[in-house]
Amino acid sequence: MIDFHCHLDLYPDARRLAARVASRNRFTLVVTTGPRAWQATSRVFAGHESIRVALGLHPEITEQKVSERELLISCVCQTELIGEVGLDGSVQYRHTREQQEAILEAVLTESERCGGKILSVHSRNAAGPVLDYVERLCRNSVPVLHWFSGTMEETRRAVAMGCWFSVGPAMLRGAKGRRILEELPTARVLPETDGPFAMNGSSPYMPWEAISIAPTVAATWNVTAEEVRQQFLNNLSHLLDT
Ligand code: MN
Repeated sequence: MIDFHCHLDLYPDARRLAARVASRNRFTLVVTTGPRAWQATSRVFAGHESIRVALGLHPEITEQKVSERELLISCVCQTELIGEVGLDGSVQYRHTREQQEAILEAVLTESERCGGKILSVHSRNAAGPVLDYVERLCRNSVPVLHWFSGTMEETRRAVAMGCWFSVGPAMLRGAKGRRILEELPTARVLPETDGPFAMNGSSPYMPWEAISIAPTVAATWNVTAEEVRQQFLNNLSHLLDT
């Protein structure tokens, strides 16, 4: 089906796994944690048309990858898909907050300068500040908020701003995630796993398991699981056509 946010390059034996993912998924967005990883991963998965690799710099590893900032910005115009980028407001990353913000500001600014990009955006414990950046800097770009976990007020603000959302089985396990889902417009939701970081018990979610959210989403939207699948496919075409 679709997995709009996974770290396929970080699974064991990723090259072999990619062939299985390509045969089972219509579309898989591989987000990367740094621009060098983007370059290498793009080459590794180049033979699979349905696997797209997004250019990113993960906010959780800003400290290790801050030297790749210039490379990141210089690559933005070469790709349509950006991710994983964003802010992480958790205590353990507080010391890199200034750098995180400088990188997000630069990547959003460059994305607009290059005509607008689709961005998979991380906003854990930083939903409000991420939305401030989006509001200020995104005109033609389309942010897809991945595993959004803001307050209900922040969720409604993100919806009103035109953001998209990628939602996974791990997010919908909790009552808060299901409550957020109720606020989202059906036309701006896509499935994701965030694997291999998101775990299904003791093993990571596989990219073809993103669609396991369909029954939960169907119950929320009061439609059938098949209608949810069709909606996701329609959403993906609309997003990629913009
Ligand atoms: Mn991720």
